[in-house]
Amino acid sequence: LDAYLKRIEEAKQRDHRRIGQALDLFSLHPIAPGSPFFHPRGAVVYNTLVQFMRGLYTRYGYAEVITPLIYKTDLFKTSGHYDLFKHDMFLMTVGEEEYGVKPMNCPGHCYLFATRKHSYRDLPIRFADFSRLHRFEPSGTLTGLTRVRSMAQDDAHIYCTPEQLPDEIGRFVAMTREVYAAFDFGTDRIAVTLQTRPEKFLGRIELWDAAEAALRGALEQAGFPVTVLAGEGAFYGPKIGFDFRDVLERSWTLSTVQIDCAMPERFELRYVTSEGTEATPVMIHRAVLGSLERFIAILLEHTAGALPLWLAPVQVRILPVSEKVAEYARTVEAACRAAGLRAEADLRNEKLNYKIREAQLQKVPVMAVVGEREAASLLVAPRSGGAVQEPEALPVFVARIREAARIPGGVP
Ligand code: ZN
Repeated sequence: LDAYLKRIEEAKQRDHRRIGQALDLFSLHPIAPGSPFFHPRGAVVYNTLVQFMRGLYTRYGYAEVITPLIYKTDLFKTSGHYDLFKHDMFLMTVGEEEYGVKPMNCPGHCYLFATRKHSYRDLPIRFADFSRLHRFEPSGTLTGLTRVRSMAQDDAHIYCTPEQLPDEIGRFVAMTREVYAAFDFGTDRIAVTLQTRPEKFLGRIELWDAAEAALRGALEQAGFPVTVLAGEGAFYGPKIGFDFRDVLERSWTLSTVQIDCAMPERFELRYVTSEGTEATPVMIHRAVLGSLERFIAILLEHTAGALPLWLAPVQVRILPVSEKVAEYARTVEAACRAAGLRAEADLRNEKLNYKIREAQLQKVPVMAVVGEREAASLLVAPRSGGAVQEPEALPVFVARIREAARIPGGVP
C-alpha cells in the first residue's frame, strides 16, 4: 500500500500539466478545447524534436512534404475514412461543397504519389510530414497533451515494392533504436507487439502473409522479444507497436509501423515493374515519436521535466554573484548565444543561492556562476547536476557546452 501511495504521489508530482505550467511550456484554454497553446519555451521543445527527426530523415532517405489541411470530403470517401471516421472529424460545408479537416496525412500522400508516373527504380518513396492534424475527440476524454484534438506526428508514408518490404522495416527498426537511444530509453524499457490479420480483412492474403513475415523478421533480427497479438491487426494491415515503460511503470505505445494492404488499391496507385507491367505499391504508415504532443507529455513525466541538454528550452543560465558583475554576465550570455546555445542571464537583485534554487526548480541543465574573480580573468564557474566544477575560460566553457548540446543523430 505504501509503495502504491508513493507512486500516486510521484505521478501527481510528475503530471505533465503541472510541469508544463511550472516550466512555462504550454497551456490549454476552453476557447480551443484539446488544442494546446505552446508558449515560447514549449515551442523550443516542439521544434527541436522536429529538427531532431529532420536530421535523421536526411540520413534515412526521407523527403519532407507539405500537404493541405482541408480537403473536399471526396478524399476521405476514397480512403474509407469518411465512413469509418466521420464522427471523429471536423467537417464543414462552404458554398455547395463539403470539406473536412484532415485527421491523418495518408490520403493526401496518396494523391501526392499519384501526381506523377513511377517506375520501380523510383521506389521506395518516403514522404515525411509534420502537418497539424485534427480529430474531434469527445470533450470528456481530453487530457493535457496526452489526449488532444489538435496534434502533429513525426508521420511518414513509405511506398515500396513487395521485395523492398523487409529492408524498409529493418531500416525503421534501426531508426527507432537510434531515437530511443537519444532519450536514454533503454531496450529493457521497450516491449514490442506484432498485431496480425483479423478475421475480417481487406487485401490479398499473400500480401498479408508477406507483410507479417517482414515485420516478424525485422524484429527478430533486431533482437527485440516480440509478443504476437493474433488477429489484432487493423482490417487493412498488420502492425507493430513499441511500448515504452516509464519510470512510473506505465506503458505507452510510441512507435508504430503498419503495412497497408488496402489504401494503395483504393487510390489506384501504380508503378511500372522491371518487366514493364503495372503493379500496386506497398504502403507503410510509420511514426517513431507518435504524436509530438503526447511524446512531450510522456517525456516530461518520465524525466520530471529535466529534459536532456539538447532539448532543454533554457540550456544555460548565467548567475552573477552581485550587480557589480552584471555586465560580465551579459557578455557570457552573448557568447553562449553566439554559439547557438539557449542562454539567459538572471540579473535580478537576489541572493545567489536563491537564483541557483530557482534554476534547479526550472530544470535548467547548466548554470554558469560569475563573480568578480571570474569577470577579471574571463572565466565562468559551471554547475550542473548539483555539482560545482572548477572555473574554466569562457571560450572553453562555451565550446564544451555547445558540443554536449548538439542535437543527436543528424548528419555530422
Ligand atoms: Zn498513415
